[in-house]
Amino acid sequence: MTDDGIDLRSDTVTRPDDRMRDAARDADVGDDVYREDPSVNELERRAAEAVGMDDALFVPTGTMGNQAAVRVHTERGQEALVELESHVYKWELGGLAQHSALQVRTIDAGERAVPTPEGIREGYVEGDAHRPGTGLVCLENTHNSRGGVAVPPERIDAAAEAAHDLGLPVHLDGARVFNAAVAHDVPAERVCRGVDTVMFCLSKGLGAPVGSMVAGPEEFVEEARRVRKLLGGGMRQAGMIAAPGLVALENVERLADDHDDAALLARELDGVGGLRVPDPDTNIVLLDTEPAGVTAGEFLDACRSEGVLGTQFDETTARFCTHLDVDREDVKRATDRVVAVVGE
Ligand SMILES: *Cc1c(COP(=O)(O)O)cnc(C)c1O
Repeated sequence: MTDDGIDLRSDTVTRPDDRMRDAARDADVGDDVYREDPSVNELERRAAEAVGMDDALFVPTGTMGNQAAVRVHTERGQEALVELESHVYKWELGGLAQHSALQVRTIDAGERAVPTPEGIREGYVEGDAHRPGTGLVCLENTHNSRGGVAVPPERIDAAAEAAHDLGLPVHLDGARVFNAAVAHDVPAERVCRGVDTVMFCLSKGLGAPVGSMVAGPEEFVEEARRVRKLLGGGMRQAGMIAAPGLVALENVERLADDHDDAALLARELDGVGGLRVPDPDTNIVLLDTEPAGVTAGEFLDACRSEGVLGTQFDETTARFCTHLDVDREDVKRATDRVVAVVGE
């Protein structure tokens, strides 16, 4: 980072590097609503390949990708089965109700972050004259609110298989699916193998300025393209933002550095002044401030005064997130400053 502050609020704060800016300036473009933007077409092809799906669609945000996917998979009045702390349920303005007219049934998967097959079967509702019927299962990997948990591929497979046995499609909110893949040392295609469709963000750990992808079978993507238009996401010379996305796809392997930095941060801060900081799976570090006798807000205010920025998750949980724009030295400096803060 260039200024003195160390911004660990989110992996969304990264700025496009010179290669991405060059790529945007030099991008071949056309009208993507006419499917004539070569950069978007190339990105969609490469993104589909990266997650092992037939086809993919470029969307401006992860939220739009998730919401479009849900809309395609379901009919109004059905239930969506989602994890209690999932992004699609907690952080998307109730979009499942607003865009797809769904009612939501939650499963608390706890630290496991993905429902068990048993949990899926228990949450399933068969439609009849009185009951709406389940239309979809949504999973999340890595699981953001539970601390960047990298769910093992086999557990995703097991949950998806249980859903499929009940005739339900499965959508994976894989905003950080490459972090999950890197954490388990497998290709992203393996993480997504059991599910029908996946959304992932280019604009988080991969460092693109804008954009997410939603991928799945051809007919699904065709329908998602219509829903994207309906949601106001039909873009014109979108190659300008797709081209940096192509550069971002080359940043997968380096996510391991973010994971190492996060592990270092957690190791150094755990126990300091009473802070409880569990070992992270990926690039998201959750800090329990309760044993330190302060609220997360008080803790973060103190950190901010020392130039270290994080976010508040709840009353006593703060979050630090490592990313492309902080290096090992920044993380060490941040650690020293937080230790100084908590020591006071
Ligand atoms: C960030 C995020 C999203 C949404 O992405 P936006 O581009 O911010 O709309 C969806 N799911 C998860 C798990 C996320 O972390």
